[in-house]
Amino acid sequence: LEKKFPVYGPFGKLFGTRAFVHAVTDVSFELYEGETYGLVGESGSGKSTTGRSILGLAPATGGEAIYEGRSLFRLSGAEMNKLRKDIQLVFQDTYSSLNPRKRIGQILEEPLVIHKMGNREERRESVFAILKVVGLQPEHYFRYPHEFSGGQRQRLGLARALILNPKLMICDEPVSALDVSIQSQILNLLRQLQKELKLTLLFITHDISVVRYISDRIGIMYLGRIVEEAPTELLFQGPQHPYTQALFSAVPDFTRRKLKERTVLQGEIPSPLSPPSGCVFHTRCPLASEICKKQVPELKESLDGHRVACHHHEF
Ligand code: SF4
Ligand code: MG
Repeated sequence: LEKKFPVYGPFGKLFGTRAFVHAVTDVSFELYEGETYGLVGESGSGKSTTGRSILGLAPATGGEAIYEGRSLFRLSGAEMNKLRKDIQLVFQDTYSSLNPRKRIGQILEEPLVIHKMGNREERRESVFAILKVVGLQPEHYFRYPHEFSGGQRQRLGLARALILNPKLMICDEPVSALDVSIQSQILNLLRQLQKELKLTLLFITHDISVVRYISDRIGIMYLGRIVEEAPTELLFQGPQHPYTQALFSAVPDFTRRKLKERTVLQGEIPSPLSPPSGCVFHTRCPLASEICKKQVPELKESLDGHRVACHHHEF
């Protein structure tokens, strides 16, 4: 996948040419129906790009996303529009995408109008039903977005995605802007909805405790690659990749119980404009050796579904 990037020279002068960043280079994972897959990484790791590319919102120059046997990157605009009903995106800053001059009833009805679903009366009923599903009140139908609190706004965001009865929901940092107590309310709601509506969730976050709470399986991303993937409990029982270990050891509670010592990473995360050769983590890895600089490690899989990309790791 590539991301267009303006290139600035000295004094902020824009160069004529564009550079391309491989925001995501080698990401391969499967989403099973009805599961929650957590994609974790720091900012710039490519996790959002991965989520958005599934919907064609980040242009892919290669690779494939297969949904129910169909390759999403090869669909026509019209086919993709139909599919947009099945796959919904919920993000952190839902509020900014709600038209401040429209009442909630109208905002929530919009997706149904776009997808030509139901008549007026039916659509109205659906809106009242979905308000109830996400824990809002019938009278909210007549209110404006600014009258809602942060948590309620995220409920509205969920309502707008859910009203189309999607199968897959891509949630990009959906609770990151909320207070911790409100976060758990929204996470609980998501879990409950997922069970009741048999949703499949792709949950993107930088927050280790959040992803642990919500996910069945987790993929750890670093500089555009998945470096480790495992069922949640397995991953937390024994993170295998040096990056995952460092990431987890930054969570104080986790360090005390599970990891013998804290791994402190050297330096900053490198720019995605010029990712390191070989293993993208080698510039910061305490275990790096010569081969790490030259050769990209493959994701190797154990019998229990744990995958690790590291030259110096054996199951
Ligand atoms: Fe570290 Fe080398 Fe493993 Fe990369 S491949 S994580 S640099 S030991
Ligand atoms: Mg992001």
